[in-house]
Amino acid sequence: MITLQNPLDMHIHLREGEILKSVLAFSAKYFSACLAMPNLKIPLTDTNKVLNYKKEIQSLANSLNCDDFTPIMSMYINESLTKDELIKAKKAGIKILKLYPKGATTGSENGVEEILDQKTLEIFEIAENFDFILSIHGETNGFSLDREFEFGEIFKQIAINFPKLKIIMEHLSDRRSIDLLHKYNNLFATITLHHITMSLDDVLGKGLNPHHFCKPILKTPKDRNALLELALSGDEKVSFGSDSAPHLQSNKLKQNGAAGIFSAPILLPKLCEIFEKYNKLDNLQKFISDNAMKIYDLKNIPNKKITLIKETSRIQDSIKIDNDCIIPFLANEELSWKIKEN
Ligand SMILES: [Zn+2]
Repeated sequence: MITLQNPLDMHIHLREGEILKSVLAFSAKYFSACLAMPNLKIPLTDTNKVLNYKKEIQSLANSLNCDDFTPIMSMYINESLTKDELIKAKKAGIKILKLYPKGATTGSENGVEEILDQKTLEIFEIAENFDFILSIHGETNGFSLDREFEFGEIFKQIAINFPKLKIIMEHLSDRRSIDLLHKYNNLFATITLHHITMSLDDVLGKGLNPHHFCKPILKTPKDRNALLELALSGDEKVSFGSDSAPHLQSNKLKQNGAAGIFSAPILLPKLCEIFEKYNKLDNLQKFISDNAMKIYDLKNIPNKKITLIKETSRIQDSIKIDNDCIIPFLANEELSWKIKEN
């Protein structure tokens, strides 16, 4: 048995409308807070849009009897973001800015074309002065397996030029990013469940598996192992961010399948299984909560304890939505840990 204090998921796609209704419970019941990503169909590029989305999540969480769940909000950076808007956001309690390079992933069409051009640098400067946290999907448009590595130079430039700005390297996938993370004091990272458990072979080694297709793409076993080791170590620069990203099965199976793995239903039990396997259960609390509390300076999060027990359960095969469904990560497989329901 293990009890986790205030589990946090610092990177999640909760979506909107029907999908939000179908997936929120997995997060709201078992996590204290989640950092909700702003790449909705209409991206959350200003304060009002972010606050409306927060209300939508909160009222739904309340209807699930999860009033102790805190959605942490982020705002989508685009080139037209002004200083006034940033100040308004800050006053409204929004402290995370999310940067998507244009075209890097789902919902990044409105992202930034040139990361280091004058306009974006001005936004970074304001972000630094007003204590925002800059969260970045760090990939270039280069060769798939090198996209994160190539983006390293941009991380480096931002880290050097804005030394007081906290920068989050989202969903690390490449072992070459780890050196960079440790080289600059103001770089931090999130790590997903899928990047520490799978490699590219799980996407295309035994026929194409669209449910394992995500961005950044899964990489080599060496990358997976290095990231697993980093997560298991409880390194204080690293927080857990599932990047759980539900897509309707119909969209997954289209010709240019949607990128994203829906891991929300299994996160805590699966993490227990992994940390136990490597004899590192003692470090799970840091990875799942303590590190993020410090990095994101989280306060006023209602106290929540989640207990897990060693008991086998089977992961559901799908979540129905109208005539469609969402397939969870590791659907139909067994888990050796289970959340103890109150
Ligand atoms: Zn994401």
